[in-house]
This record gives sequence, structure tokens and C-alpha cells, in this order.
Amino acid sequence: MIKVQNLCKSYKNSRVLSDINLHVQRGEIFGIVGQSGAGKSTLLRCINGLESFESGKVIVNDTDIAGLNETAMRQFRRKIGMIFQNFALLNRKTVLDNVMLPMECWHYPQVERRKKAEELLALVGLADKLGSLPHELSGGQKQRVAIARALTLEPDILLCDEATSALDPAITQSILELLRDVNRQMGITILMVTHDMAVIKTICTRMAIITGNRIATTGRVSDVFLAEPAELRELVGYKEIYAPAGRSLLRVALRESVGGPASLYELFAFLKGDFSIVSANIEQFESESYGLLYLHVAAEQLEQTVHCCQQHGIECSAYSPESPARGNG
Ligand code: ADP
Repeated sequence: MIKVQNLCKSYKNSRVLSDINLHVQRGEIFGIVGQSGAGKSTLLRCINGLESFESGKVIVNDTDIAGLNETAMRQFRRKIGMIFQNFALLNRKTVLDNVMLPMECWHYPQVERRKKAEELLALVGLADKLGSLPHELSGGQKQRVAIARALTLEPDILLCDEATSALDPAITQSILELLRDVNRQMGITILMVTHDMAVIKTICTRMAIITGNRIATTGRVSDVFLAEPAELRELVGYKEIYAPAGRSLLRVALRESVGGPASLYELFAFLKGDFSIVSANIEQFESESYGLLYLHVAAEQLEQTVHCCQQHGIECSAYSPESPARGNG
């Protein structure tokens, strides 16, 4: 669906994207995270053909966009919707007119434009706001208008650039639910760029982290959060967890899909009460929840405890007192 291969992009002499490889499958919701300035928006603009790049390939729906002439590029962009943090609505136009705008550019007949815009505004829950102006709407409502507008030309792909970053957490959730409905009901592939981990955890099945202009990690969201690679810890922060003398620290990750609480019961039974919980966290992801526990166990029991975890499908890592765990649990 979207294949980015060895993409390199600079502004003047400054490298912004280095050797980017990404494969977003049809129908998935894929998240890209990274610090501000990491190159996320630039990558989106390379994917929809708004930015040129020095080397590498961007292939969307089997089309290598480097080979497109102006007319073909216009047709290509038609199939890619985009929403932004600042909504990008025209302030003097009504909600209905804003949504009809892309169809106007493509010379859709007036009756069709109106019908389609009304349908989409009903879909995003704004059937009663057709005649309102953007300044009369809340941030969440403005983003709903932007989503309706992005859907008018029936795109295959929706690119979301920090689409919820200007919204409060409750409104963010409602916008994410709407995007999930759009993904499921219309089969639209969604590529989300965000710095908000909650967005990634809630809606994305796979993710990539961009650090230092490169993709540092790619994988299923739950796998990345369970593995806690250094790039993730850099983004979310971490605290150091130590074990006192004679104790060892064990990090235990429990997936709902491989036993969950039953496995934990087996581990606790094995430890016969000789453990303490230093930190515990339950995370809910788009398709799965998992628990992350940090335990102090007797140092001499560490090896057998690790073995017990392995037997019951529990992922674990042991830490010596000299090298503390760095977790966000
Ligand atoms: P992000 O979306 O991750 O915050 P951007 O893709 O917006 O990052 O920007 C990546 C880097 O490229 C930044 O250092 C930014 O200043 C620079 N940049 C972005 N757009 C331009 C431009 N049009 N001209 C020059 N530099 C740019």
C-alpha cells in the first residue's frame, strides 16, 4: 500500500530524513512518533508528493510517485486525504462549503457535492452544523469537519499530521474513535504522525519511531512497548529501579493473549510469597492489553524464577543491582 524505500531528504544542506524504510499495509492504522523536528511531517509530505526527495522511492498503491507527471500527480493526490493539527478550514466559508470545496475543485455537479457533503457531515456527527462558520465550532468539531472534507474524494489513504494535538484528552478519544470507524467502515488506510503515545496505543496496530532523522524502531505497538527500546524510553522518559542487597530485580511482561492473570498466578505460587512488587502497570492497546510488573525476588532464586516465567509464557528480564532497570512502569 505505502512503501518507502531508502528515502533521503534534505533542506538545503541539512539532512532531514536518512534512509527511511517503511511499509504500511492496506487497511491498517500505522503510527509514526518522534520528537518535534524529527522529520515526521516531512515524511508525510514526501508520501503525498508535496515534497521532492534526493534519493529512494515512495510507492503508493503500486505507483512509484517519482514517475508521475503533473496531471498524474494531481490524480494521485486525489486518493490521499490529509488532516492537520490546525484543521486548515476556510474561516469565511460555512461548514458545508468547507466540505464541498475539494469536490468543487474537481468539478463535481452541485447536487452531488451537496448530497455527499451532507452525508459525510452526518457521518462525523455534525448534521446540525451545516450553516455554521468554523469560529462557531469547538476544536473537536472543527477536526470533524476536516475529516469529512478529507473523505469527500473517497481516498484510499488518510494522512493525519498531529491531528489531535490541539485537542483535550476526551475530545482526542472521540476523534480517534471516529478515525477508527472510518478505517473499519470505509477500509481507509490511516497513517498517523503524532508525538502523543496515547494516540499510538489507542488506535494504531503498528508503529515506527523516528530518531535522528532515521527510523529507529518499527513493530507492532504492543511489541514495541513491551520491549521498551532506548528510543521509546527517550520519548516517554524513564525512572531507574534498583534492587536492594540480596535481592534481584525482575521485569515481567504479561500479555493477555498468552495466559495473562493465570500465568501470573503460577509465578506467584512459585515464589511462595517471597517477592515484592516495586511497580505495576496495565496498558490497553488497540487490540491487546498487557501488564508490566517489576518485582524484587531473592537473588539466589533468580535463575529458577526466570525459568518458571519461561515455562508459563511470561516474558521477563532480570537485572543485577549494578545495572538497574530503566522502566516507565
Ligand atoms: P516533525 O514533523 O517531526 O516535527 P518536520 O518534518 O516538520 O519535523 O521538520 C524536520 C526538520 O526539517 C526540522 O528541522 C525543520 O526545521 C526542517 N524543515 C521542515 N520544513 C522545512 C522547509 N520547508 N525548509 C527548511 N527546513 C524545513
